[in-house]
Amino acid sequence: MALASPSNLLTLHAAGKKVTKDLAYAKSNRYKYGLRATTIPDSSLFKGLSKEDPGPKALPTLTECAVHLEMLEAFQALRQEVIHSAALDKAFNILPEEKTVYRKKWTGTRRQRTYVIESRKIKDTTFATRRNSKWTYFLQIGAERFHQWIQIVNNCLKDHHENNADVSRYLLLPPLDVLMIWHAYLLNCDDFKTYCTTQKLDYVQNIVFPWAEIHAAINPDNWSYTLPLEHADWLRNVGNIDDNLIDALSNTPHTIQTKTITKHPAWRLLCEFDKTPKKAWAENDGNPFIETLSKARSTKKQNAPLVANVERQVIFVDKMHGHRWIRSPAAHGTLRRAVDRYDKFLHLFRLYPNNFLVPTLDVDLVWHTHQCSAENYRQFVTERAGKFINHDDKIGRGTLDNGFTSAEEWYRLAYGEQYQVCLCWTCEAILSAVEKLDDDALASGEATASLSDLSQRVEREVHYYREVETARRLRKALPIWNHG
Ligand SMILES: [Zn+2]
Repeated sequence: MALASPSNLLTLHAAGKKVTKDLAYAKSNRYKYGLRATTIPDSSLFKGLSKEDPGPKALPTLTECAVHLEMLEAFQALRQEVIHSAALDKAFNILPEEKTVYRKKWTGTRRQRTYVIESRKIKDTTFATRRNSKWTYFLQIGAERFHQWIQIVNNCLKDHHENNADVSRYLLLPPLDVLMIWHAYLLNCDDFKTYCTTQKLDYVQNIVFPWAEIHAAINPDNWSYTLPLEHADWLRNVGNIDDNLIDALSNTPHTIQTKTITKHPAWRLLCEFDKTPKKAWAENDGNPFIETLSKARSTKKQNAPLVANVERQVIFVDKMHGHRWIRSPAAHGTLRRAVDRYDKFLHLFRLYPNNFLVPTLDVDLVWHTHQCSAENYRQFVTERAGKFINHDDKIGRGTLDNGFTSAEEWYRLAYGEQYQVCLCWTCEAILSAVEKLDDDALASGEATASLSDLSQRVEREVHYYREVETARRLRKALPIWNHG
């Protein structure tokens, strides 16, 4: 490494931390702002996206990790949308209750005291909490839809296999709520395998995760997710599965104008979503969406582990959203290094077979990416680590801390490198620039390049990327790069 001045590094690191903190509020007039779209994330990040099966000998690629980050952003955006949707409040009949309190107010003189009754309206303080519960109901319905979806896909794969027909990879693309349930299930490898075996889902068990199709479905400007029209039609025709659960729920008749509409079975079902079902719903008049809702309500106990998987993932999703590597100037470098560090991490299991090892955040991202293609992961990890490693995210804090300390120790011992590294935009951009500098310097024979040039360049770049991200969050026009 050519970066010799630690004080310089520290200053930039501190600035990087501040960037992360200020992101939501920062403002500046340094750039011209325009409607021209920026290229963040850089499209070259997704160049290597392959539709072929990479096989059990390949590590996840940095491209797959980048799509994974996009997908997690889509999950994050979906959760925000569900929680803040007024239409879903109505659908689940979650409304603010205004309470009126009455109290005596004394007036008059000391001798002749009298009182009037005064009324005051109190704001419903439980409303915000009750709104959050929509997310759980949403996942409960998603879990039921997941069971339906995976059966259809498995049957379809079986048909194609038996008839030797080509399978469109879009077949594997579920609606976003289902994708979220599936993804979180895949991260509990053993649970998912048991599920597939007991449900006889032999074909789905071995598939390669549809990264290319997921990437195509996501809009990187606002992280919305849209299925191709043709595929959405197919899902509806073959499986009675709506492509957008928020829309399907919002369009459920729920205005309380007439008696008939109030009694609409879908709405009544949704209103009672958090109550224990006493009897199976009889009024479903053959409507498949109502049947799904009814089933979701009566199977929520069985589906609770699936919902819990997603709830645990929310923490990781929020962390990734916080780091925003997908919009970082060093996205390439961060993900490339993460894949390399993941490979080394897996090898530690072979070197120190009796240790429980906990990954860093970047390593964990690659690990999750790998697990999404269950069978390839199973074979790869058994070969590389000498045994199958089940990813268990249900482990408690204390055990995790011990596992992290061991990993840190063994990693440094085995590779002579730091395990825990700061992963802020600035530190990562410096690292990428220095790596590049070393190569260039070696190639040109110039041993010492200007370090202050490098740090200035990094600072300018990080600043610009931060401004773009801020503008996006404030839904403003994007700044235009003016540094040539
Ligand atoms: Zn840093």
